[in-house]
Amino acid sequence: MEVAIDRSGLRRALERGARANAAGGDDAGEEAVTREGMLGHLERAIKFAGGSIPVSDYVRECLTHPEYGYYMRGDVFGKKGDFVTSPEISQVFGEMLGVWAALQYEALGSPDTLRVIEFGPGRGTLMADLLRGTSKFAKFREAMTVHLIEVSPALREMQAKTLKCTELEKSAPRGVRGLVVPKNILKDEHAGKTVEPSNGPSGKAHTRGKSEINGANVYWHDGLESVPNGPTLVICHEFFDALPVRQFQRTERGWCEKLITIDSGLVGEGENPMEKVPGRDLEMVLSPGPTPASHMLVSRRLKGLPKEQVDSLRLLELSPPSMTLWDNLIDRIEKHSGAVIAIDYGEEGPLGNTLEAIKDHKFVHVLDTPGEADLSAYVDFGSLRQIVEEKPQTGVKCFGPVTQQQLLLSLGLIPRLEKLVEIASSEAQADELVKGCERLVGESAGDAAKGEPPGMGIRYKALCMVSRGLAKPVGF
Ligand code: SAH
Repeated sequence: MEVAIDRSGLRRALERGARANAAGGDDAGEEAVTREGMLGHLERAIKFAGGSIPVSDYVRECLTHPEYGYYMRGDVFGKKGDFVTSPEISQVFGEMLGVWAALQYEALGSPDTLRVIEFGPGRGTLMADLLRGTSKFAKFREAMTVHLIEVSPALREMQAKTLKCTELEKSAPRGVRGLVVPKNILKDEHAGKTVEPSNGPSGKAHTRGKSEINGANVYWHDGLESVPNGPTLVICHEFFDALPVRQFQRTERGWCEKLITIDSGLVGEGENPMEKVPGRDLEMVLSPGPTPASHMLVSRRLKGLPKEQVDSLRLLELSPPSMTLWDNLIDRIEKHSGAVIAIDYGEEGPLGNTLEAIKDHKFVHVLDTPGEADLSAYVDFGSLRQIVEEKPQTGVKCFGPVTQQQLLLSLGLIPRLEKLVEIASSEAQADELVKGCERLVGESAGDAAKGEPPGMGIRYKALCMVSRGLAKPVGF
């Protein structure tokens, strides 16, 4: 198979724009140089890359650019924000993950040291409920340090508040406009293996504090590599759906890759451009032939699948940073022992095109308002489990995906809800508690007209992995 990226068409279009601008024309080129903010940034990135960038680079910049990225806005959650997540719906969600963590801690033999890691903690609500719910379990509480991996400085601050952190220590400000800009783990997407975890208390963490909720030390990190040694429990809730995806399409020329460009001028040329938002400059086009990424990734994902299934696929969506992170987590728990749980909306896969954009609780086009909408994609759980299966020598075992409904009910959601209803201060509060839990484990499609949100019980799923010798965790 030939691997070629012919960008000449795209380059020609950009040169046309630049020429028009130099001549003082009112072509798109003139606007291009004066364009500011996220669009200006994307245009420069696209030019620098020779005319186009993969969908994954577009998503990464839209979500995590230190100045214009969506998550840099701070609180985007809840009824007033763009989307509501399970921990924000009910305290029971974080409490049930506390039960999961405490059970895994015991399965690990109740070690004296425990690293509890959360990727992408949002407002910090899940961790706060977990710490509160387990605070009476003295051995667990005393063993744990909390490690939060978060790219957004604004959200780091919010998490510190939610966790009631005192004795906050911050590293010297650096980066854009005096903000402490965490290093983006996604920038290391192609770097391969993580470096050896350090032995120190938490050498590279930018911020540390002490949570008044249970007295645990809390550290913020750029990535997994600076979390100190020791048995490890990892929680990823609605994190993998925020990691960038690449998209591929089967054509007569083999698996080509969808790319983002600006004003390519390729209208009507073969399959390009594929998508364009009226009045906007960004376009999604198809590479003229297979790209190195399609060459490497597509066959890996399709390996072992039934031939009829492979033959029926026309689109494929994969998240290389998710796969790299899962691989690094396997190595971490192989070395230090532990367990990992990922809860998200997703499927067994392989998936075709699930990338979507949400702004103010409404779907918008992925290319519209870059940096202002939340971009997310379904998690391809099968692609993550495949990585564990490729490394049998590690002794790590993967379970699931199971539905969120099965997981939460197995961990004891009903008895906990009954207890809370019993001590509720009013009928209204009791109703609220029941409604919240119904939403977490419910299956209903909802009714937008009546303002009834759909149930999350089936659409959300959990995948888990445990280190050598640990039994299948409760709920899987
Ligand atoms: N788990 C939370 C928030 C989910 S939103 C909840 O369920 O409510 C995704 C979270 O991941 C946000 O906190 C976002 O800032 C963070 N995030 C997104 N991309 C990231 C990256 N590349 N590195 C670290 N954190 C990231």
